[in-house]
Amino acid sequence: MTRIESTHITIPTSSRFQLVDVTSMIQDWVSSINAGDGIVLVYSPHTTAGVIVNEAEPGLMKDILDLLREVTRPEGGWRHNRIDNNAHAHLAQVLVGDSRVIPVARGSLMLGTWQRVMLLEMDGPRRRRLNLVYIGS
Ligand code: ZN
Repeated sequence: MTRIESTHITIPTSSRFQLVDVTSMIQDWVSSINAGDGIVLVYSPHTTAGVIVNEAEPGLMKDILDLLREVTRPEGGWRHNRIDNNAHAHLAQVLVGDSRVIPVARGSLMLGTWQRVMLLEMDGPRRRRLNLVYIGS
């Protein structure tokens, strides 16, 4: 029998560019609903914040933010900056995407040894939300 459960978690960010490791918040929720085998969707309902899966090594986290800053050029002459000075954040979200799907086995996220789920903030500080949907046993 397939179950579908959903919730959301709230993440207050503290700077304009930031990666926040949310892996344990997701695992805690998956555990709290006694999940079995399935998948969990981690979805950002924002146009200026995304979700990535990668290694949460502090130097690499800064490298990822530097890469996205270089590619999306916050000081670039983007048209959207005429009305809302955050075109770079929208563009970064387009590049990384709004969601990730993570397999769950016997109630545990099936992540690799170095994989962590992270919220990508590109226009903080803000109060962000991630929607979580579990589909499985
Ligand atoms: Zn905007």
